Amino acid sequence: MQSKVFDFAELQQSNPCFGCPAPCCRMQLIPCHTPNNFMDLDYLRYMLLFPGTEAIVREDGSWGLIKWVKCSALDDSNCLCKLHNTAQKPHICKSYNAYNCWYKKNFVLTNSQEIYRLNLERFDIWIHEIQFAENGDIVSAPDFNQSIDILKDVPIEPTFAQLDDAILSSDIRFS
Ligand code: SF4
Ligand code: SF4
Repeated sequence: MQSKVFDFAELQQSNPCFGCPAPCCRMQLIPCHTPNNFMDLDYLRYMLLFPGTEAIVREDGSWGLIKWVKCSALDDSNCLCKLHNTAQKPHICKSYNAYNCWYKKNFVLTNSQEIYRLNLERFDIWIHEIQFAENGDIVSAPDFNQSIDILKDVPIEPTFAQLDDAILSSDIRFS
């Protein structure tokens, strides 16, 4: 199916955040290095024991950690930033390119999976597929698609959906 195309003026007037429940404002994305051995995975499992923590694995094999915690500047009633149009809004938020939003792709839309997600329950299933050398080095692990297949029947929270029209009436987050 061919995807919709836009001209420049249409994109100028658009708001890529319109209707989005703002997962970007509900998590802290924490870098972590790609695990190579038993102790690296033991560390990740330790992190997952803390509520609200999950690991993500990208298609290129790199890892990250997510702490699900809502930014204190997010207005949960309408998913808008209370610091919008103020000097207090962090530049990292002001300058983010929402037209190609990684958060939306992976946490709101359902057909654009660039990551797989591991909470403790999923990790404890996935880890059975890993093989180690005697010194603890990882010698084999499922690839990206195999991992998605292993985890497909194990639900993970939170999940997100586009907002309904009532909440959307005054979306000014992106201007
Ligand atoms: S589109 Fe991206 S940047 Fe905009 S609110 Fe949604 S998650 Fe945040
Ligand atoms: S400051 Fe605003 S845009 Fe940035 S994370 Fe918090 S609520 Fe979201």
